[in-house]
Amino acid sequence: MSIIDDMVNGITKEVNKVQERGQEMFQSFNLSSQIRDLERKRSTKLVELGRLIVDKYHNKKEVSEEKIQESVNEVVGYEDQINILKSELDSLKTADQAAPASQRAEAKSGFKPTPGYDCPRCHAPASRDKKFCPACGETLGGSDGPVDVEADAEPESRDVDPTEN
Ligand SMILES: [Zn+2]
Repeated sequence: MSIIDDMVNGITKEVNKVQERGQEMFQSFNLSSQIRDLERKRSTKLVELGRLIVDKYHNKKEVSEEKIQESVNEVVGYEDQINILKSELDSLKTADQAAPASQRAEAKSGFKPTPGYDCPRCHAPASRDKKFCPACGETLGGSDGPVDVEADAEPESRDVDPTEN
């Protein structure tokens, strides 16, 4: 691969990272506004339910149990949706915070610094074979995915024993 290819690859990775972050932000903004919308609808339903109960028990109007149950179901339905969206929002936030730590863990496992090579962001010794900086989690140009797994497995399959010969 040429230096130009490497550069283009690096830039593409950075762009993808920024786009992913943007999508996450958009997703969480979207979820928050959906939750607010559902909470407004639930409040409206709760007022309606309260009205039915006041009519039935105070104003002695003819309000069937079914009608009250139906209204309760609608409120509970909104609450279920709100809870689902809230847990989605939570997992989105947790994933965002967990990413750098897991990247650092990945970078540290089997870490062997490449002489003369350091992280472009924090300048800690880094390995050309690793995808992320072990100190700050910065994305490096190292191999990724299945290629990385192969590289990690390599020392086991290689039978280099200095005591032989
Ligand atoms: Zn770094």
